[in-house]
Order: sequence, then C-alpha cells, then structure tokens
Amino acid sequence: MKILLSRHAGFCFGVRRAVELLEQAISRKDRRIFTLGHIIHNEDFNESLEKRGVRCIGEEEIESLSPETDLVFIRTHGVPRDLVLRLEESGVPFVDATCPNVKKIHDIVKSEEELARESGEEIAFVLLGDPVHPEVLGIVSEAKRYPVTVVNGPEDLITYEETAQKNIRHVFLSQTTHSLSAWEACVAEARRFFPDTTFYDTICGVTGTRQRDAVQIARQSDLMVVVGGKSSSNTQKLVSAAKEFCQTVHIRKAAELPRELLRKEMTVGVTAGASTPDSMIKEVMDTMTENNQEMSFEEMLNESFRTIRTGEEVTGTVTSVFANEIHVDLGIKHTGILPASEVADSEQDLAENFHPGDEITVLVQKFNDAEGTVQVSKKRVDSRANWSKVTEAYESGAVLTGKVTAVIKGGILVTEENQTYFIPASLTGVPKGGSLDPLMGTEVSFKVIEVDPSRKRAVASIREVLKEQRKEIEDAFWAQVAVDQVYTGKVKSITSYGAFVDLGGVDGMVHITELSWKKLKSPAEVVKVGDEITVYVKGIDPETRKISLGYKTEATNPWNLIRDQYQPGDVATVKIVGLTSFGAFAELIPGIDGLIHISQLSNHKVATPADVVKVGDEVQVEVVDINYETRRVSLSMRALMEDEEEEAPAEEAPAEEAKEEAPVEEAPAEEAKEEAPVEEAPAEEAKEEAPVEEAPAEEAKEEAPAEEAPAEEAVKKAPAKRTRKKKEPVEEAPAEEAPAAEEKE
Ligand code: SF4
Repeated sequence: MKILLSRHAGFCFGVRRAVELLEQAISRKDRRIFTLGHIIHNEDFNESLEKRGVRCIGEEEIESLSPETDLVFIRTHGVPRDLVLRLEESGVPFVDATCPNVKKIHDIVKSEEELARESGEEIAFVLLGDPVHPEVLGIVSEAKRYPVTVVNGPEDLITYEETAQKNIRHVFLSQTTHSLSAWEACVAEARRFFPDTTFYDTICGVTGTRQRDAVQIARQSDLMVVVGGKSSSNTQKLVSAAKEFCQTVHIRKAAELPRELLRKEMTVGVTAGASTPDSMIKEVMDTMTENNQEMSFEEMLNESFRTIRTGEEVTGTVTSVFANEIHVDLGIKHTGILPASEVADSEQDLAENFHPGDEITVLVQKFNDAEGTVQVSKKRVDSRANWSKVTEAYESGAVLTGKVTAVIKGGILVTEENQTYFIPASLTGVPKGGSLDPLMGTEVSFKVIEVDPSRKRAVASIREVLKEQRKEIEDAFWAQVAVDQVYTGKVKSITSYGAFVDLGGVDGMVHITELSWKKLKSPAEVVKVGDEITVYVKGIDPETRKISLGYKTEATNPWNLIRDQYQPGDVATVKIVGLTSFGAFAELIPGIDGLIHISQLSNHKVATPADVVKVGDEVQVEVVDINYETRRVSLSMRALMEDEEEEAPAEEAPAEEAKEEAPVEEAPAEEAKEEAPVEEAPAEEAKEEAPVEEAPAEEAKEEAPAEEAPAEEAVKKAPAKRTRKKKEPVEEAPAEEAPAAEEKE
C-alpha cells in the first residue's frame, strides 16, 4: 500500500500555540486550570485534558472562580468581548490563547468602525461564517456601532440583499475556517449588487493550504482518510474537498479506520484537521502501516516536513494576506510571517500585490517556537538578487534605467528594482550649480561606476551615459559630413570671433568674417543665441573634429547684387558713412561703400571733406567706376555739378591745378598713415582671439586670410588709379588712398 501523508496535517500554529501555553500552565501545577469553552475542536483531546484536571466551563461559571487559585484559558477562536470584560472584572487571571489570525479580524472590525465614526460614514459588516460558531460570535461582538450580518454562503447573501441598504459601504469579512469557494462566490455576488464594498479575505491560510493539499493528494489516491474531530469546522471542509476526487472517510481516531477498505495495491492519502494532535495521526498511520514496512510514521512525518535554517532562502505559498503582513506556508510546521516592512523598501499595497496561492521566495529570519511562527523577509531575497545584478551591471557596463526617488545633499537617489543607487550631483548631467529638483520622479538612464559589496552600496553616473550617447551621435555625424553640405542648426553661443552652431549633437563654428559680407564688430550684429540658421560646411578636420561653417553665400554677395543695380554713369542717392582726409565714403548698397574722392566732392577746391559733407548726409552721386576685380567703387558728386566754373580756372590755372593736385597726389603717404589702423584690424582681431580657449583651429585658418589683408590692400591701392573720369583729375587722385575703401569692406 502506498500512503501519502499531507505535509499540512495536524496542529496549525494557532492551535499549537494554545496547546503549548496550556501545557506550560499544567506543568506549573500552581493553579486550577479552566478553559472557557473547549480550547480546540477535538473531542478526544479535550477528554484527555479533562483527565489531567483541565476543566471546560461555560460563561455562567466565571463569577464562581477564585482569583487566588484559578486560571482561565480563552480558546483559539476567541470569545465575545463581554466575556473578556467579565473576566477582567472578576479578577481571575486568564490567558488569552485566541489565535493571532482571529485577533486580526477583531482589529479590522474595530478600525473600520473607528474610521467610519470619524468620517461620519454609514457602513455595514457582512461576515461569512457559521452564525453559532464561537469565533463568529466573538467577531460580531467587536462591532459596537454598525450592524453585522452573518451569511453562511452566497444563498444567504442573496437573501440579505433584498433588505440591505445599497447606498452605504459594505465591509466583507470571513470566519477564518470558512470555505474559499464560498468566499469567492460571495465576493462575486457582492460586487454585482453593492456599489461600494471593501473585502477582507480573512480566511486563514492554514485552511486554504490544507484544502489545496488535500485535493492534490486526493487526486492521486484511491482512498482518502481525514483525521479530526467531528465538530471541527476545518476538518469537515477537508472531507468535502477530498470527496470530490476519491472515496473519503472521516475518522476521529485509529480505531475508526475502515480496515475492510484498505488493500495492498492501493494508494491511500492521509490528512488531518488543524486541531488534530500529532499523536492521533501517528496512531492512524501506525495502524495503516502495520503490514506495510516501507516507511514508519516518523519517517513519513519527517519526510512531510522540511527542515529549514535561519538565513536560508525558501520558496513557499502565500496563505493569507493582511494589511500589515502576509502568511506563508513554507512546508514546515511553523507558519511564515512576512511583515509589510520586510516585503520591499517602498510601501506596497499587500492585498493588491499578493494573493493566497502565490508562490513567494523568502529568507528565513527568526523562529518563534512559542507562537509556531517564523519571521521571513522577501526584501532581503530581492536585495541579494538585486546586488548580483548590480555587480553584473558594474562589470559589463550595462546601462540601467531607474526612477529618481530622492534629491539629497550632494546628489540624487535612483531606484531600480528595489536597488537604490547614489548619483553625485557632478554626474547627473545637470550643469554645475544647477538645481537637481527637476529630476525628482523622472526616469533616468545611468551606469554603475562604483560598488561597495560590504555595504551593498552602488554609485552611478548619468553623465557617463550622456557622454556615450553624444559620442554615438558624433560618430554618425562624422561618418556622413562633407564639405559644402548644408545644415540647419541652432546658434549655441557667440564669441568675439564667431558663432557656434549646433548641427544636431555636433557643434561647428561660423567665423565672424563668414557671417556677413560687411565687416562686423561682433557676430551679434547678425545672429543671436537660439537663432535657427542655415549654414554650409566650409572645412572639416576629422582629427581634431573641428568644423568650420559658412553663413554668407554668393546669393547675398553684394558684389553680385550690385551688378544688376548699377552701371558706371548711373546716378544714385547715397548716404555718407565715413570721412577721411582724402574723401568721403558713401554706402551705395548694403555691403558696398564707394569712395567720393576729395576732388570729387565739389566743383571747387575743398580743403577737407568735412567742409562739404558729414556722416549721415544723403547726397547724389554719379557712379564713376565699379571694379569687380579689386572690389572698389568710385563715386563723384562733382560729376553732377556744372563744369563752367571749373573749366575756366582749369584752363587759366593749369599750373594752379597742378599745384593743387600735387598735394593730393602726395596724399597717399598721409592716407597710408591714416589707413594703417584699418589694415591692422585683422591682426588686432587675431590678437583678440588668441586668448579664447575655445577658439578652434578653424579660427586660425579663418584668421589667415585676414592677416594677408594688408598685402591685398597693397594690391587694391594700385587699381584705384584706374578710376577714370573725363576732364577730372580723379585718375591722378591719390590712388594709394583708395584701398581705404576696400579696407572698410
Ligand atoms: Fe488560527 Fe488558522 Fe489555526 Fe484557526 S486554523 S487556530 S485561525 S491558525
């Protein structure tokens, strides 16, 4: 015969605790011992207690007890509140052996009442259970202000619904030993009928676990033997559950074993109610194994219970979920108690995240033999698992993603799967001195850069990830960038020598000379930070990763625009923009200033240009010459004036004119002096730019032509002589002075 013994047979921790407390009291032999009702639902056990002098009394005998000689025990499933008060008033010492699971239901009733009272809310309790069971009577007695309706199943609930107030909140509870299926059916019905409900699944995990275990064994057995008291509620539920799968017999003791049903070739399953002592199970097993030498009861019992030690990780099954703890069946005699504080670092809604029947791995922390419990921790298991993930991430350089859960002094804390990482402010990617507050609550990607295994602490960096992301973008950019390529980018910053433009993760620089065809004092004359501008690549240096950009284009080149607007001989109205000793500069079109030589300012001799014009004046001029090669424009006011006056003196006093002209011809030396600073301007720019750290190599490149400018000017001065105008001595005009016009450009 094959015998399968349920590993959840025998005393539950509630009963074991009560029995052990009682045994301790008996062994002290200092008082007469009474139990207020039977301490457990097992007739044989209660009989044996009677024989040992422990007497079961009713409430009517309380007042006859003596505070000096007697001791009273309250049974595992509790008593009504008024009985406890009477005991207190009588002065007779008593031991409250009510199971902690039952006490929890009392607490729920009290706290719901308190909450409703404070908020003024109207509520009603519905308790699933046997209306005459002592536990149910005890629970009902805890409700002082609001009604409790006891229903034994969904049928009773439907009857209650006919008279129930629908518009108030209904709080649903269950007797600890009631059937799971009845509870589930009631929950479904209540959800359908009542709009506002709160459910507390207070069915003791022991009951559920035993029922599930009994079903599992019954499925594999030909016969199921359930050992336990006939009045034991949970034993009866085991019988009902097993019956669905195989022939089942309910016996109180070995003597009731139906030997006629036992055959060698069959598989027999054995289970027992929560109030069945081990000795009775042993007796049954011994009887069954008389002729079956394969395994003794002790061996089977030991086999059915696992041995676990403190510090061990064990996978068990959730049996009950309460607001502040979870009960776990670990496959041992002790019930695993998982306090809410040991579930996770952060607060969790236990009822939402855990359900009876869930598999859960916990770390064994502390045994409490008196209560038949063992404290366990899930958080520690997660932490161990997380730590190995942390070290893996550290070694592999993997990028993790977590949520910023706190901004603290010197940095932020990021949590990822129950592991917290510290990220110093300098590694957050926030510029120095910037506020870290905006990061709070955001998801960030980071890398673990330092681990301290002894303290299980990890330091991480967001900056590291940003750096890598930037590099990837840069690499992709450099893989496709080419000279003349056009980009639209944002102006990131402006310096005295140019503007930096973000081309999409990579910056390039537009030198000040590339921003405009006009000479600029500052890049800010053309662009400002934040502007979106279109630029083209002028040059790239893959080694130093510098990019020089161009902004001004041929389309905006004034020397191209002027071609369509003015021809020599045209008359134009221009504005005087500058004066020198040898003439005045006037803007012909934006970006091109022409020179009105001193000799062309008037039809009579002019001592200084300021005698004729001033900056800002608008005057009419004739366009004398546009030299595209040297990029010079000669203008004349005199050409538009009457010639008679000048003709006469011209003839009469050629010598005079020659005399007058002579100094003009000599002017170049003077002008050269005046112009010198202009010519030197690029050098000065170069000087300005040198100290700027960010000045990229391009600048040097950009500056080069500027430094060459003087040579170019020298070349430019010569063509000025080509500015010819009939009858005008302009040709002889200080050609050397003309470059000044160019310089202005
Ligand atoms: Fe406590 Fe559950 Fe045992 Fe009842 S069955 S005494 S509630 S542990």
